[in-house]
Amino acid sequence: MDRLVQEIVADLKSYLEYLRGMGIVGLPTSEDRPREVFLNSSLPPIPPTLEEVRKELGDCLRCKLHRTRRTLVFGEGNKKAKLMIIGEGPGYEEDVQGKPFVGKAGQLLTKILQSIHLSREEVYITNIIKCRPPQNRNPELEEIQTCYPFLLKQIHAIKPQIICALGTFAAQTLLKTDAKITTLRGRFYEFTPLESPAIHGGDINKSSRRVESTTIPLAESSLRHRKGEGKAPSFLTGLAGIKVVPTFHPAYLLRNPERKREVWEDMKQISNWMVNNNNEASQPVGENRR
Ligand code: URA
Repeated sequence: MDRLVQEIVADLKSYLEYLRGMGIVGLPTSEDRPREVFLNSSLPPIPPTLEEVRKELGDCLRCKLHRTRRTLVFGEGNKKAKLMIIGEGPGYEEDVQGKPFVGKAGQLLTKILQSIHLSREEVYITNIIKCRPPQNRNPELEEIQTCYPFLLKQIHAIKPQIICALGTFAAQTLLKTDAKITTLRGRFYEFTPLESPAIHGGDINKSSRRVESTTIPLAESSLRHRKGEGKAPSFLTGLAGIKVVPTFHPAYLLRNPERKREVWEDMKQISNWMVNNNNEASQPVGENRR
């Protein structure tokens, strides 16, 4: 077979594997098929809107956290945000109010954002898991894996330029690694939606590639996937070029205020990157994608 055709077939195969990983098992037969039908079969011919993702999540009973949660905390902010903030999971206040980062850690997050001249309304804030674990315990792997497809769809809907991963669980989940947050923080990584099903079991050097200021070449990313490294080439998933920058969680900063300086440095890097790549940190607030 012609080399180019072989490459196209390999890329298509990768894409289909990616869709299957998202739980998509059928393909549309016509472009004018109603959106609802796509939603029901989980097939996004175009990125879903946040409203659609929320609707699909529904009154979620997919993991045991539904038994103890009060409110499912989906996320809030600018639907066209260039910066997406992803924390761990709702705490007490979030569970009560149904909004992410509204407790003490949330107030600190607001200040951290202000330090780089961003308001909460300009960014989009969500968590790895959408329901509060009892007694604020750490999220379990099964809970993270159950919620991850919805987080992916949120990212797909927003298409941020940068994701700031707050704390160990957000960083490890998004980067598919069990490396420590102290090692991961303050660096730019390319977001690769699916690598291997194992979360918190990989080696950062083998999975997500660190990038200092630019994306790893997409061709290389695709090539690595074809070599069987299990990665969906992000240019096929519509999530190409999104950066992930991990930093310490605000709740950790409340207990360890001496680490605030490092977070400040990480946020300055994010801000500088955005200034260099845009001129403004977000699209006009409140303007929907569709
Ligand atoms: N901690 C988090 O990780 N997320 C929240 O929404 C609140 C506290």
